[in-house]
Amino acid sequence: MSGDRRESPPVTAGGNGVVLQDKKTAPVMVPSQRLRLHPNKDHMPESYEDLQLDFSPSVFRSLEKYLPPNMLSDSREEKVKFMRDILLKYLPHGERTRAQKHGEYRQKIISHYKPLKRELYSMHPVTFFVPSFMKAINDNTEESLRSIISEPSPGVLTFEMLQPRFCELLVAEVENFEAWVNDTKFRVMRPNTMNKYGAVLDDFGLETMLDKLMDGFIRPISKVFFREVGGATLDSHHGFVVEYGKDWDVDLGFHVDDSEVTLNVCLGKQFSGGELFFRGTRCDKHVNTGSQPEEIFDYSHVPGGAVLHLGRHRHGVRATTSGHRINLLLWCRSSVFREIRKYQKDFSSWCGECAREKKGRQRAFIAATKSELLRQDGESVA
Ligand SMILES: [Zn+2]
Repeated sequence: MSGDRRESPPVTAGGNGVVLQDKKTAPVMVPSQRLRLHPNKDHMPESYEDLQLDFSPSVFRSLEKYLPPNMLSDSREEKVKFMRDILLKYLPHGERTRAQKHGEYRQKIISHYKPLKRELYSMHPVTFFVPSFMKAINDNTEESLRSIISEPSPGVLTFEMLQPRFCELLVAEVENFEAWVNDTKFRVMRPNTMNKYGAVLDDFGLETMLDKLMDGFIRPISKVFFREVGGATLDSHHGFVVEYGKDWDVDLGFHVDDSEVTLNVCLGKQFSGGELFFRGTRCDKHVNTGSQPEEIFDYSHVPGGAVLHLGRHRHGVRATTSGHRINLLLWCRSSVFREIRKYQKDFSSWCGECAREKKGRQRAFIAATKSELLRQDGESVA
């Protein structure tokens, strides 16, 4: 029997399904060896994708090139330990304990949960995606992407994406995970503060596959359509499923996501209602301002169909009137964009309200200039 019973549920914060800090954590080891100043470009790093780590495998691959030369021949486990200690050391204290706790939480799940559909755990594009989507990605031009993408409302991209078979497999896997959670009474963390019904896919082994989904398929699209919010530099994700049923308790207001770009794909099953509604893109300061008529848009989910939008695009769901719906969500983030945003004040390239204010200022400036010219004209005539 798995000994997974936890006495108290983990506390989640920030709508992000991560555990809050615990002050009892042991101090972090300070590595005695220093990293190189410049990467060793000739060194071929190892693969870390089969390991369940609390940082992305690509972070370890990049960092390995900076390891002290005498460490390069060490075992992969020793390198991981060394690099992990460094990574943790550079996180703020709260983040560090949070990352450690979350790593332990994941480890606990992964060492006990038995996946049902192994083929989901690595990326198989041909069996996952519909041919039109595959072709557009492989052609890799703006034109090929535009040929499969519709934009029914500004900033809301829709396209056919997932094969029905993949949707079935993923739903079966999630149901299997939920059944395991039920049987073992495991205190599972939900995807965010808004969704009581759902599971974090990254927590039970699907992180590497979803990382590839973001890298190879979502970033190329975001690079073309969402460049102004870091679409070209998406480098981390939060992947989960949410479930809706008739009379289930859901928040019917709008919200924004903790993401730069959000992928939302319907996996099925049979349902009516549950439309996704949009209310325009806003920065933090303007998040509660009104909507313009052209920003109001309703989208009806179709199984296998994807919606891609900015995380800052305000949206919500309508009640499911019958049946049961499951959606896959991938919140994609860009650390570069988040860093840059700290120093910016004007978000008129993507916030509808900042753009309106800017236009208003320009109009006022033009009007003032015109009247000044007229006044000067009048003076010179007199
Ligand atoms: Zn704004």
